[in-house]
Amino acid sequence: MSTETQQLYSQLPAIDRLLRDPAIEPVVAKHGQTLISELLRQMQAQARDTIKIQQQMPAWCQDWPQALQVRLNQQLRLALQPVFNLSGTVLHTNLGRALLPQVAMDAVVSAMGNAVTLEYDLDDAGRGHRDRAIADLLCQLTGAEDACIVNNNAAAVLLMLAAVAPGQQVIVSRGELVEIGGAFRIPDVMRQAGCQLVEVGTTNRTHLKDYRAAINEQTGLLMKVHTSNYCIQGFTAAVEESELVALGREQGIPTATDLGSGSLIDMVQYGLPAEPMPQRLIADGVDLVSFSGDKLLGGPQAGIIIGKKALIDRLQQHPLKRALRVGKITLAALEATLRLYLQPELLAAHLPTLRLLTRPQPAIQQIAERLQKQLAPRFAGRFELRCEPCWSQIGSGSLPVDRLPSYALTFTPLDGRGATLESLAQQWRSLPQPVIGRLKDGKLWLDLRCLEQEEALLEALN
Ligand SMILES: *Cc1c(COP(=O)(O)O)cnc(C)c1O
Repeated sequence: MSTETQQLYSQLPAIDRLLRDPAIEPVVAKHGQTLISELLRQMQAQARDTIKIQQQMPAWCQDWPQALQVRLNQQLRLALQPVFNLSGTVLHTNLGRALLPQVAMDAVVSAMGNAVTLEYDLDDAGRGHRDRAIADLLCQLTGAEDACIVNNNAAAVLLMLAAVAPGQQVIVSRGELVEIGGAFRIPDVMRQAGCQLVEVGTTNRTHLKDYRAAINEQTGLLMKVHTSNYCIQGFTAAVEESELVALGREQGIPTATDLGSGSLIDMVQYGLPAEPMPQRLIADGVDLVSFSGDKLLGGPQAGIIIGKKALIDRLQQHPLKRALRVGKITLAALEATLRLYLQPELLAAHLPTLRLLTRPQPAIQQIAERLQKQLAPRFAGRFELRCEPCWSQIGSGSLPVDRLPSYALTFTPLDGRGATLESLAQQWRSLPQPVIGRLKDGKLWLDLRCLEQEEALLEALN
C-alpha cells in the first residue's frame, strides 16, 4: 500500500467522532444510535473502497452530515410510493387498481387506530363471524342469501371449489378456461383445490347437452368463468347461467360463477361497456357468485362470494377460510365502499373508479390544454408538447377492446431520438412522486383521465 493511500485512510473520521459531530448529534437524537452508526459504518466502508480503487477521497466526504442525510432519506423512504397514474389504464393492477372513496379511507383510519367490533356483538346477539355486517349489506344490495369475504377473487374461487366440490369433478366449458395475469389459471386453481377439472364443449362452442353428457355421480359442481380479458368472436355458442342452473337443479348439482370484476350497477347507463352484474346471476338462481373488491366495484383488494346460505355456511366453516380471511382494515374499507352503493345517485361523484371512468373527453381535453400552456416553455427547444386524443383502458381483466375516448399531453423529442424520450421517462419515474406515462409512436403520452391533482403534477414537472 502506498503512503498516499495510507494517508487517505487515516484521514477518514472515526465513527465515535462522527456521532459526536454537532451536525450529526441531533440526527442521532431523532433516529437513535443503532441506525445512524450502521449508516456511518456503511459510508466508511464505501469510502475505503473508493480510496482503494481510485486512490482518492470520495467527494461526499467533504460533508459527512449532508451525505448521511441523503442515505438516511433513502433508508426511510417507503417502497410503496404514490405515483401519478397517467398510463391510460384506470384499474392498473401493477399500480394498485382502484383508488378508494374518501368514506373508505376515513373508515380505515378509524379501524387502524382503534379496537373495533370485528367479532364482537355489542347487543350480545351472537351473530358470529367477522363478515356478518358486510354479508348483510351484500344481501341487501344483491338479493343473495349470504356472503363470504376473502383476500381476493383468486382466493374466492379456490375456497368455493375446495368447500363445495372437494375430491369431486367440476365441469367447465373449454371456452372458459381462463388465465388472468399473475399465475391465476382455472386448471391450476382446480388442482390446488383438490378438484378434478372436466372440460366440455369446444373452444368456440359449448352447449347444454355437453354439460349434461359429462355429469355422473362424481360431479360436484357446474361452473362458469367470465372470460374477462378476451372474447371469442364468430361462430360461437355458450350456455346461459339460467340454463345451467336449471340443469343443476334437475340433477341436484350446485352451480357457481367466477365473475372476475362484475359490477353492482349497470355500466351501460353511464355510457360504459356492459359488465355482468352479480345480482342478475343471483336472480337467475346461481348458487355461488364470486367477484373482486378492487376491480369495477372500486374498493379494497378482496374477494366477495355471494349466494345460497347453506353453501356459504360451508365456505365459512372450511379451514381454508381462516387462512384466506381479511383483516379489519380491508373490512372497514369494503363496508364503507359498499354503503355508497345504497345511494347509487351519489356513486359517480364519490366512487373514484366510476368518476374516472365516466370523465367526459372534453373535460380531459381542457386539462391537457391547460397543462400544455403552462409546461411548453419549460420544455422549449427539447420537446414538442401537443394535446392529442387517445384511448384509455378500464384495465384489470376488462376487455382490451373496450376503450374510452380520452385526451393526452404528448412529448415528442425535437432531436427525434428514442434515447431522449427514454431519459425523460426515466427522469419522471425518479421524481418524489413518479409520473407514469406510456411510450408509443416515438412520443411519451400522458393520458390525463386519471389526473385529479393538476397543481401537484405541474409542480412535479416544473
Ligand atoms: C380478475 C379475475 C380473477 C382474479 O381476481 P383477483 O381479485 O385479482 O384475485 C379471477 N377470475 C377472473 C375471471 C378475473 O377476471
